[in-house]
Amino acid sequence: MLVSAKEMLTKAKAGKYAVGQFNINNLEWTKAILQTAQELQSPVILGVSEGAGKYMCGYKTVVGMVNGMLEELNITVPVALHLDHGSFEGAKACINAGFSSIMFDGSHYPIDENIAKTTELVNACNVLGLSLEAEVGSIGGEEDGVVGAGECADPDECKAIADLGVTMLAAGIGNIHGKYPDNWAGLSFETLDAVQAKTGDMPLVLHGGTGIPADMIKKAISLGVAKINVNTECQLAFQEATRKYIEEGKDQQGKGFDPRKLLAPGAEAIKATVKEKMELFGSVGKA
Ligand SMILES: [Zn+2]
Repeated sequence: MLVSAKEMLTKAKAGKYAVGQFNINNLEWTKAILQTAQELQSPVILGVSEGAGKYMCGYKTVVGMVNGMLEELNITVPVALHLDHGSFEGAKACINAGFSSIMFDGSHYPIDENIAKTTELVNACNVLGLSLEAEVGSIGGEEDGVVGAGECADPDECKAIADLGVTMLAAGIGNIHGKYPDNWAGLSFETLDAVQAKTGDMPLVLHGGTGIPADMIKKAISLGVAKINVNTECQLAFQEATRKYIEEGKDQQGKGFDPRKLLAPGAEAIKATVKEKMELFGSVGKA
């Protein structure tokens, strides 16, 4: 059964580790992530962007697929199904479709409008026992058409949003989506420290986990980050393994054209990436 992300993130923040959010794109992705979480006895959050939801034939299809897998694969670790960077309309659609966790990205609205819309969703999520992630200070780079400049969040605005009763808060601290440029300035730990000082026990979320050096990840966790989003890294691992399989001509040997064989190396590469991240974040054995 899907669960809200609240309990797993409260435990993570108290225990100084982080739970990974891994974005899904299809059945192979979902299966690889769930199997790895179960094997490592780690809680996990499955992220679905609005674009990926559309690609997978809509939110109800996603909910049906994930619920089916939890049962058929005998998954017993805590799993949350989370809308990633949702619009206000997308958030409402996912609440109705059966998601267990929602992110409303109101960072591009003026703060007053972000507060008004977030408040409405806090109430909707509370009634159903769903967790809600809010964002302050846009996160750089592009994710499914959502473009952010990578600014650092204002700690007072973070407190204003945290006080609305959201479950977790994504604050921009110089992190960006996708690959990091060579001239990237690194995470702003001053901002993170100031945000945590104002928001107390609120689990903080680090987006754009791909390519942030391990020591910065560990420092961010020590300063209150309890959820880390990983998306691009699984895509790159899948792409590299699939390219290798085809370049080695394995798709042309025997029944190597069978999609169950063709997609297997990519799925294994996703598993290896997820394992590496769960070990780095410290969530192994925390289910
Ligand atoms: Zn993000």
